[in-house]
Amino acid sequence: MTEATLPACAKCGCEYTYEEGNLYICPECSCEWSKFGAPEDEEEVIKDAYGTVLKDGDTITVIKDLKVKGSSSVVKVGMKIKNIRLVSGDHDIDCKIPGIGSMGLKSEFVKKV
Ligand SMILES: [Zn+2]
Repeated sequence: MTEATLPACAKCGCEYTYEEGNLYICPECSCEWSKFGAPEDEEEVIKDAYGTVLKDGDTITVIKDLKVKGSSSVVKVGMKIKNIRLVSGDHDIDCKIPGIGSMGLKSEFVKKV
């Protein structure tokens, strides 16, 4: 055989797939997919409340009064927090807040400065 082996359909397993442009097409279930495969896993992107991508070391401000768990302190709207660290989880920003200490914030309640 001189032809390169085409990949079988990922959906139905059909081996009679054919090429068209940059696509492979399955004649059985008529699904198409790119020759270049699925896009590579991108790094998890964490965005602020306005869709700006956040990075480690960024400075943010808080856009909503946030109660500090287990204390009566409140992180006030507009408070500036420097040098954030992105983490995974429900509270995806790790930071040190002056007068309060380390705490986790949700990216949806902050704005990049
Ligand atoms: Zn198929």
